[in-house]
Amino acid sequence: MSTAALPAPARPQARRLALLAAVLLGVALAVVIAVVTPWHLLPTPAGGRTPVDPAAAFTPAQVARAESFASALRPASLTSLVLGLAVSAVFGLTRAGAATARTVARPLGGGWVWQVLLGTIAVLVVGRLVTLPLAAYGEVVRHRYGLSTRGWGLWARDVATSTGINAGLTALGVLAVVALARKAPRSWWSWAGGGAAALVVVGSFLYPLLIEPAFNRFESMPAGQLRTELFALAERSGTPVQDVLVADASRRTTALNAYVSGFGSTRRIVVYDTVLDRLPDDQIESIVAHELGHVAADDVLTGTLIGALGAGAGVSLLGWLLGATPLLRRAGVSGPGDGQVAGLLLFLFAVGSLVSTPVQNLVSRHIEARADLHALDLTRDPAAFIAMQRELGVTNLSDPDPPAIWQWAFGSHPTVAQRVAFAGDWAELHP
Ligand SMILES: [Zn+2]
Repeated sequence: MSTAALPAPARPQARRLALLAAVLLGVALAVVIAVVTPWHLLPTPAGGRTPVDPAAAFTPAQVARAESFASALRPASLTSLVLGLAVSAVFGLTRAGAATARTVARPLGGGWVWQVLLGTIAVLVVGRLVTLPLAAYGEVVRHRYGLSTRGWGLWARDVATSTGINAGLTALGVLAVVALARKAPRSWWSWAGGGAAALVVVGSFLYPLLIEPAFNRFESMPAGQLRTELFALAERSGTPVQDVLVADASRRTTALNAYVSGFGSTRRIVVYDTVLDRLPDDQIESIVAHELGHVAADDVLTGTLIGALGAGAGVSLLGWLLGATPLLRRAGVSGPGDGQVAGLLLFLFAVGSLVSTPVQNLVSRHIEARADLHALDLTRDPAAFIAMQRELGVTNLSDPDPPAIWQWAFGSHPTVAQRVAFAGDWAELHP
């Protein structure tokens, strides 16, 4: 095939259908988010809400340390984000993406399948390399503050593993899109949208089995009084668990954390080994009670279904965008079935994920607050909850008072000060 094929004539009806599907799915997404997000959790106590005050959660020295850590890291994170988008724009909005796909596929005969697979991997690897110095700088900062315990060998292995998994899976996803567009030029976006939604569900289900073991080892929490207490807690919560797993997080970090992943038969509660080593039992119970809150509300499944709906809406929008002649001309590709389209597709993905991040975090912050409420209702021990939040905040160097716009865009949890104030409200309401 010759270079710089002209865009195929647009099919206005098929495009309008894709736009209509995107709008309808987008509205459905907004409605689902509005309905399932727990916007209001606690009534206002008679004496008014507990003020959100970082000074109530941390000493001035702790505030200063967390703030200097955040101000060392934040510009680098932001630069990395902008740089990543810029690389993506160069490959997506100029002919560089198409040229790259042709060049890397040439030694293998230049067929469209190789153009898609190697073109995708090339763009992602270049993006990773360009932002690598900033990632290394971030690791230096985390080392300097004692948050990272990871040697540079393990750091390099982690970067290579995550880049490899991401590039491999993304290349297969892009290949599926291009193959569908070649098979069904008018309706490919509906098949791809359904497929993307299904993949989000399958991916979330399999994540604990396929991805997590690439980074950590997991063992059952050792038998003993704590384990017995946590299982009793799960029974009282109405969410019995088969096991609580401990991850060897201390290989990388001193941070304290726990999480729930998977759903159905892959659902599991994971606690960092750092938590078991350093926190008293009542604080560990508070952490696990929070995770049980996620189990009780089936938050992983809810998030997965919202993600699936979002993926369907996003791919439908892609069906409309990839019929836009000016965009295709700019990227030097003939349409979504062109093997050289990966650069443009990846750019649109990048923009989509940038736009959807604040929405995901908005929902996440409310879901996290609901899990906090579950922890307080279950343990009825706000003092242990507040002590645990302080301990996590200090150890993880969480910025007690991040700029509002930063918290809005990137905050997946309420701030520590907000969580401490929330526990204060709970205590007021449960004298
Ligand atoms: Zn949580």
